[in-house]
Amino acid sequence: MAPRTPRYRLDPGVRPRRVHVHVEVDPQQGSAFRGEVALEIELDKSRRSIRLHAIDLKVSKPRIEIAGRVHRGRVTKLPATGMIAVHFDKSIPAGTAVLRLGFAGRLRKDLCGLYGVSVGKRRYAFTQLEAADARKFFPCFDEPSLKARFSISVTTGAANKVISNGPVRRTERLAGRRKTVHFAETPPLSTYLVALAVGDLEASKPVSLGPTEIRIWHTPGKRAQTSFGLETARECLQRLEHYFGLPYPYSKLDLVAVPDFEFGAMENAGAIFFRETLLLIDSRSATLNEKKRAAEVICHELAHMWYGDLVTMAWWDDLWLNEAFATWMAFKVLDDWKPEWKMWLDFQHGTASALELDALRHTHPIYCHVRTPEEADENFDRITYEKGAAVVRMIERYLGAATFRRGVRAYIRKHQEGNTVAADLWNALSKASGEDVARLVRPWIEQEGYPVVEIRRVKSRGRPALEFRQRRFLEQGARKRAGSRKPPTRWPIPWVGRIGGARKGGRGMLERHLLSGARVRIPLKHTPRFIYGNADEGGFFRPLHDADEIRRLSESLGSLKAVERMGLIDHQWALVRAGQSNIGSMLDLAAGFAHEADADVLATLRKPLSFIVGSLIPNAAPECRAPMQAWLLDHFEEPFARLGWKPAVQEPGEIRLRRAALLGIVGGISESPGALETSASHCDRYLADRRSIDANLADAIVSLGARLGDAALYRRFVDAAMTSASAQEKRRFLLALGDFRDEKLINKTLAFALTDAVATQDVAFLLMRLFANSAARERTWAFTMRRWDRIRKRVPPHLCSYLIEMTPALLTNEYKREVAKFFRTNPVPTGERALRQALERFDWYRGFRIPAAKALAKWLEI
Ligand SMILES: [Zn+2]
Repeated sequence: MAPRTPRYRLDPGVRPRRVHVHVEVDPQQGSAFRGEVALEIELDKSRRSIRLHAIDLKVSKPRIEIAGRVHRGRVTKLPATGMIAVHFDKSIPAGTAVLRLGFAGRLRKDLCGLYGVSVGKRRYAFTQLEAADARKFFPCFDEPSLKARFSISVTTGAANKVISNGPVRRTERLAGRRKTVHFAETPPLSTYLVALAVGDLEASKPVSLGPTEIRIWHTPGKRAQTSFGLETARECLQRLEHYFGLPYPYSKLDLVAVPDFEFGAMENAGAIFFRETLLLIDSRSATLNEKKRAAEVICHELAHMWYGDLVTMAWWDDLWLNEAFATWMAFKVLDDWKPEWKMWLDFQHGTASALELDALRHTHPIYCHVRTPEEADENFDRITYEKGAAVVRMIERYLGAATFRRGVRAYIRKHQEGNTVAADLWNALSKASGEDVARLVRPWIEQEGYPVVEIRRVKSRGRPALEFRQRRFLEQGARKRAGSRKPPTRWPIPWVGRIGGARKGGRGMLERHLLSGARVRIPLKHTPRFIYGNADEGGFFRPLHDADEIRRLSESLGSLKAVERMGLIDHQWALVRAGQSNIGSMLDLAAGFAHEADADVLATLRKPLSFIVGSLIPNAAPECRAPMQAWLLDHFEEPFARLGWKPAVQEPGEIRLRRAALLGIVGGISESPGALETSASHCDRYLADRRSIDANLADAIVSLGARLGDAALYRRFVDAAMTSASAQEKRRFLLALGDFRDEKLINKTLAFALTDAVATQDVAFLLMRLFANSAARERTWAFTMRRWDRIRKRVPPHLCSYLIEMTPALLTNEYKREVAKFFRTNPVPTGERALRQALERFDWYRGFRIPAAKALAKWLEI
């Protein structure tokens, strides 16, 4: 007997080959749309009925054409699975047939399927179909391995522009100022990569790379903001073609700035959609970080054109094959194009946030079993993206960049236009390297969590040596299961350490070993001045050094790379959180960074400092507030004062970013009255003239300005959020509404967040900002419970889980119980894991609170 197809999966014996979709939609005239779909299918054996996907669509006129004869069918709904079944009176024989269906629906409001967006009086329709929402646009076989060639045609008002995956083949003029646009047939695509945009859009002039024309589409009046995105796309595409050794796989490249969009961007084949902030850049007012982030996302999506679109994972359990690779690739390509951007430091922020999440018991392996679309949606997280990318990078470093690329090229070439599972990649990499790659990498992909590697100096036969021990790193220690005989988790660790030479200065040397046992010893040639246990932060693990080694490292900070200094801070803070190190030793280490030159290192330091000052102290150690802030000012105010507020002429970007990072510590955390007042007056001037300060200070100044701000300033922020010409500025002012501390203004922002003035894509981010504001978080939680029905309507499912993630900011056990109870009664299917993680974080804090508060008071000598 053949195994039964799981309930949530389609019958694998029915495969679409070609899909013709015709849709009539004119968002300017109303939100109804309708169309017909003709699916050319191949059946492996005869059947009386065919299942496919359709949600919230009225499906009509089912019929099937076999060898020129048409048979009528009848449709039943299978709502639990998002499917419909089309039944026929006669058996449909094995072979080919054409299934035809009419469909009708309404433009959605929740940013998925085919949805409507208003910008002033203009109305648009856009698609967002990943993971499983093509079925909300037209009836289809909505699984990634059921690739088909799509021919799309759209009937709409003559004034609308229409964009889809392929180039326009021809446009028919129709009566009544209407037209039908026919697009060229696509290469084989998964349904989630189909795209459509309709409305009053304008295009930039194209730039070309070989035969490929690249355009940016946007709502009217934004052409001046397209040059950065075009240049980035061209530079990245060229490097990606070179990396893969295969030309760009589609016949044109449209980049579309969508005014309301749930995700950062979506890699629709040949028609990539973005949030406006991640594609349109006003070069004069955007910060360097905004440009870097936009470039990273553009490059990530372009990498998907090969890795994801041309070669696609067979099912959502291997989503990481797409996302880990595209995430890593974007940094690699941008580092090659703009080495001065130091993109690997940005990468490290991502790795650090994955290490933090993956230290929870309720984490998941990179490879994750997925049954339903909701479960697939939960996997779009930092484990799949950032941990996945860090593991890809670790493997590349171990195999060597050239060998790794040889394997990737062979993999892409062999599977182009098809689907893969992880083993296909391991096979290609093994062939290229001669190593058993699967044995090395599978524990990292298939086991949850990661190791902490304890490094000790020992003597081996009278000579210096290192001893390594590994165990799983958990923020709350290991869970003891009675009677569990499962052996402890181990990883094969491609270890690279930095070993300080005998003389002072210099970067030291790298030592490489593949550590596979629980305990390993390696001999050294000399007694090292220091040992840093994760060179370049190239490995996805935490090194654990003893107190003497930390002291040696603090004396040799100049010998570590910036990325290693970031790692050192982050690992030490994690060890403090896990109760394996003392909060005082962390702050002693922090003191050594007062004159730190690199903004990313300072940004890393902000995380522990702001948790201590913004959460631990108010909740558990209020008497520490003044001495702690005084200590911070003692160390960081002077370096900030030395830089001054105004950049020197031609001052390099690095120093500008350092100034902004220091202001975050001096103004944001230490609350220096001088820095707050000066920020407020700069904020005032910035509102009147956006060039009055260096753009890189804008985020800090606007946020600090809001802290002291009154109702008059609030009104000016709302006005700027509504009317600024640049998407980044709009976002900056909108989110800063969440930073006001005045009670009345907090209430105002809460109410405002749910009005239509805030785009659907931004509602969750504004509420998250309020959760991060210590003066607003409790009020925000009460509001969330009270207005939950409306919040569910305004916050798309994926972003709902972000809100759940913010709840541990409430800290106390009473709130934990309330959060647990509330989401038990009001479940969020895409946020179940996020909820378990949030509750675990509450538990962690309960254990951390008292010992940490005591240790802090002791260290401050109060
Ligand atoms: Zn992606």
